[in-house]
Amino acid sequence: MFEFFLKSLPVQLEGDVVTRQEPCRCCGAKGGIKISRIDYWDIKETDIVKCASCGTAQLDPMLTDDETSKGCLAYYIEETLRTSHKAQEKNNLRSYRRGIHFAFTLKRKNYTPKDILELGPGSGYFLEGIRFVFPDVKISVLDINQELLEFNKSQHGFETHLATPEHFIPALENKFDLIIARDIIEHVTGVDAVFKNVNKYLRVGGLFHFITPNGHEDVWRFYIRYKEKKENSELLINHVNYFDGKGLVDHLTRENFKEISYYTYKLKTTFRGRGRKVNEKLMAPLSQKRSADYYVNEKISEIRSVTFDKKETLNKWYLKPNRKFFARLISWYKHS
Ligand SMILES: [Zn+2]
Repeated sequence: MFEFFLKSLPVQLEGDVVTRQEPCRCCGAKGGIKISRIDYWDIKETDIVKCASCGTAQLDPMLTDDETSKGCLAYYIEETLRTSHKAQEKNNLRSYRRGIHFAFTLKRKNYTPKDILELGPGSGYFLEGIRFVFPDVKISVLDINQELLEFNKSQHGFETHLATPEHFIPALENKFDLIIARDIIEHVTGVDAVFKNVNKYLRVGGLFHFITPNGHEDVWRFYIRYKEKKENSELLINHVNYFDGKGLVDHLTRENFKEISYYTYKLKTTFRGRGRKVNEKLMAPLSQKRSADYYVNEKISEIRSVTFDKKETLNKWYLKPNRKFFARLISWYKHS
């Protein structure tokens, strides 16, 4: 039974064969199948097309930089206002411990990073966790959200770069021995350009650490709403790429990345039905064409008053410089 279940995965996505409006941003192919239709806020209505060659599903046509940046800011504000201050503090602490856990896995492999760049750093606490383990490390962050960069600068003193990851910054060439992109590559409009930039920004032998959701399960929610009801789904967070594990590895190999450790996805969500079951509960929300302007213009002042007391957030008995053993153990226990 179990074996049968595994053999029937992944479920093939079906849809009309189409000529894409724009070539695939991973492999350049022009053919694909249309698997869904979405509204990105009230900013753009577009298709999700799965590439016939590399298997990546993407928005077609893709969001422009301006559309991305507006929607991201709206989402950032919406999410900040929706999440309680306490929950955000908890998230920050969790990211910090994850950073510690990650840094110790580097240490175990005899890597000691000196210059780190994170694309899309979020709260920056993951990086701070890394700095707990490697106190001398220099940290830079890159994001398209000025609000978020200011937060990173004032909370942690990181060097900041306001740009999309696709935009090449000559000053960053050969500067880093570790580049981090946690849950970022599913957001970028030009994956190929990002991988090329990462390659240029890294020194010889440098590391690229990324995580990204299982694209098949991620897109499933949109796929089944369209398949069953022919309705547009609502897309508020800009997942614009849905990767197929193999296509992604092939792409990285083409760009001369060498795999050090590569994990694919756990089956937990698959068992719950994501990526294979068709029912209403699993569908993405129906589009409401929510107004991005409302958040960007009317709500932004409310998040500017949000501050975090870093000392208070990290005030745990095990998070002291002289207790790295316990910090390591507890971070491992909670996040490995
Ligand atoms: Zn492709």
